[in-house]
Amino acid sequence: MCKILTIVGARPQFIKASMVSRAIAEHNVTINDQRLAIDEVILHTGQHFDANMSDIFFNQLNIPRPDIHLDIHGGNHGAMTGYMLAEIEQALLEHKPDRVLVYGDTNSTLAGALAAAKLHIPVAHVEAGLRSFNMQMPEEINRVLTDRISDILFCPTEIAIKNLIKEGVETPKNDQQSTINTQRIFLVGDVMQDAALLFAKQACAPQEVLLPEGFVLTTLHRAENTDCPERLANIVTALNQLHHTLAPVVLPLHPRARQLIAKQGLNLQVHVINPVGYFEMLWLLDHCDLVLTDSGGVQKEAFFFGKACVTMRDQTEWVELVEAGANELVGADEAKIVDAARRHYGRRIDSSLRLYGAGEAAKLIVRKLPKYTTSD
Ligand code: UDP
Repeated sequence: MCKILTIVGARPQFIKASMVSRAIAEHNVTINDQRLAIDEVILHTGQHFDANMSDIFFNQLNIPRPDIHLDIHGGNHGAMTGYMLAEIEQALLEHKPDRVLVYGDTNSTLAGALAAAKLHIPVAHVEAGLRSFNMQMPEEINRVLTDRISDILFCPTEIAIKNLIKEGVETPKNDQQSTINTQRIFLVGDVMQDAALLFAKQACAPQEVLLPEGFVLTTLHRAENTDCPERLANIVTALNQLHHTLAPVVLPLHPRARQLIAKQGLNLQVHVINPVGYFEMLWLLDHCDLVLTDSGGVQKEAFFFGKACVTMRDQTEWVELVEAGANELVGADEAKIVDAARRHYGRRIDSSLRLYGAGEAAKLIVRKLPKYTTSD
């Protein structure tokens, strides 16, 4: 038996972890030898806590209820990460897992990886190797440090593998050999693609509102945009302009972004709705005519649904989408946002390119998680 302690805390992590939890359950019913079974303990840090940012994902995606809920949220990054570190350490001492599984790039990811590494518990990082090369971003700090202290690195793309190798995380055994044969780094594909493929059929329209046809789907939550008054004001002006002159802009607004827009007294005149569940988000992606976002995950989901994406950031970790012409980076420049949205509106993208694996990332992760433990 291998005991895995999974750490989640934020919306995209619930989606990613749901796929691996399913794969673990499938693994456990297909094995003949019970020593190969995986016992998963789920820890929710509480980083995202609103019902429509957390519970709805557990319900829709049928994620097992967290065994441990820390209820830690808000405050500055250092304090939040520090509180999580102390509490996760206690949970690890109590549950004594053989492995800790962390996802993505949030404070929960870093706190989980650091607590485990300090206790010499091997850490597996899902979405390893992604880089924006902008160390001003809290997410970049979390990613770089988490990768540095992780023992198993599950990469979604070839570029992610190259980034890790450039950082000296692992040198290929032999230059001629594919880098995926190295010991610590595994190319598994993207668990978010697994999720989009699996749940696309369950997409359903948001209940609370009647949505217009031909809309631009927008999300906005990155600290680099929401915490910079000038950038936030530019984005709000650009969204208003597009809403009045191009097509209705539908914005399921992150609670933190909503607060900051209100605090700055900005007048957002687009179709603002509350954050939606995953099935509703898939419906919005399927029915929109353009995606305009600063999210990481939504950039890829636009591609999965064959929609062009305009990204309101200066860098992206998903550079293959920019190279493939599916995504354009425009930063927070009002004129660039408006111009790019006009050019890409209604443009369809060929999503048959295999940029993110074959939809089996979660299965590959479970297969690669070391099977026997010293306690067996
Ligand atoms: N998402 C959602 N409802 C929303 C907005 C986003 O279900 O109202 C999903 C989205 O489809 C994607 C994930 O949340 O799967 C991305 O989360 P977010 O943009 O918060 O984080 P990031 O990907 O930037 O880390």
